[in-house]
Amino acid sequence: MLFKDCWLDGRRTDLRVEDGLITAIGELSAQPGERVHRGGTVCPHLAEPHVHLDAALLGRRAPNVSGTLEEGIRNWAALRDGLGRADVKARARQTLEMYARWGCTRVRTHVDTGCLENVAALIELRDELVGEGDSAELQVVAFPQEGILTSPERTALWREAVAMGCDAVGAIPHFEPTRAEGDRSLRMACELAAEGGLYVDVHCDERDSGEFRHLLTLCDLADEYELGPRIIAGHCTAMHQWPDDVAAHGIERVRESGVQVVTNPLDNIVLQGRGTYPRPRGHTRVDELWAAGASVGIGHDSVIDPWYRLGTANLVDAAYMLVHYAHLTSEAQMVHAFTTLAHENHRCFGSTPRLVVGEPAALLYYDASDPTEVLRMRPEPMVLR
Ligand SMILES: [Zn+2]
Repeated sequence: MLFKDCWLDGRRTDLRVEDGLITAIGELSAQPGERVHRGGTVCPHLAEPHVHLDAALLGRRAPNVSGTLEEGIRNWAALRDGLGRADVKARARQTLEMYARWGCTRVRTHVDTGCLENVAALIELRDELVGEGDSAELQVVAFPQEGILTSPERTALWREAVAMGCDAVGAIPHFEPTRAEGDRSLRMACELAAEGGLYVDVHCDERDSGEFRHLLTLCDLADEYELGPRIIAGHCTAMHQWPDDVAAHGIERVRESGVQVVTNPLDNIVLQGRGTYPRPRGHTRVDELWAAGASVGIGHDSVIDPWYRLGTANLVDAAYMLVHYAHLTSEAQMVHAFTTLAHENHRCFGSTPRLVVGEPAALLYYDASDPTEVLRMRPEPMVLR
């Protein structure tokens, strides 16, 4: 198979695939009988750094009629404890198939530690997938949806979930009773991760008020526990409202510490800044993070779940939303938004795929001439494994 005149890593070139391997990149002529795809965009498989598979697809079972965060939380609370292991696994598998269709084969999921049966379901699924060859790779984050220090029982469940074999320790400092306890929950998470050789993945400052600054504490803890690149700070929407001098300092600390910020544009464009005018955009400062050289991932967050019903499992949709509401519409920014999905988004999995001669042809081919056209049309890619 020959991909002719395709966009690859910022240039136009040809790429040949034979017996599942990339055998040549450069100016190539079609061989007799060779299938040729012309003029599209080629990239590695995509990775999803932030989704909630325990809740995925439940938006069909219990639609969020008002579309609000509050109803989402209520609907999830009503469903969570009665789902059962088989149901969680079946919906997670179905969602992973949706991701695979859109070219994403690595997925990091959060799981609400309030229900250990759901934690067990996703850990079991992750381990099953390891034995299934070319299926998706899954990572599981122990995510205390209702906080760690809001009750002794919740602390215990969170610790138990981590002990069950999660890949990453989660936290949600802005949901803890006080700012000090929010910071303490971050220390507990880093301590637990450092002890167990795990990752840290925090829902961090997912608030509209600029008073939430747990990200600064997280960066300090990243240094103290030497966990920097093993930490993801998700959402970070409060940064949007930080004064510029605080943001400049915070962004520099993110870069220095090696923490990755994962922005979740689809959920946060509808859940943040809601209800009053003027409506602030609830998102993190992606352009400034990029300019400082910090690592940013783009998550999809919700696939038809109680919080957001419009998820598709196509990460290009998340990048499309981001370039609009973060004003990332320069040529270079749109390319950066698209390439993030196949590059920076892989960081939490410990390796970034590269398309080079001799390597397996695990690649996507979009029938769209370049990243801007991929964002515009968001077509289904041809997925080679
Ligand atoms: Zn989330």
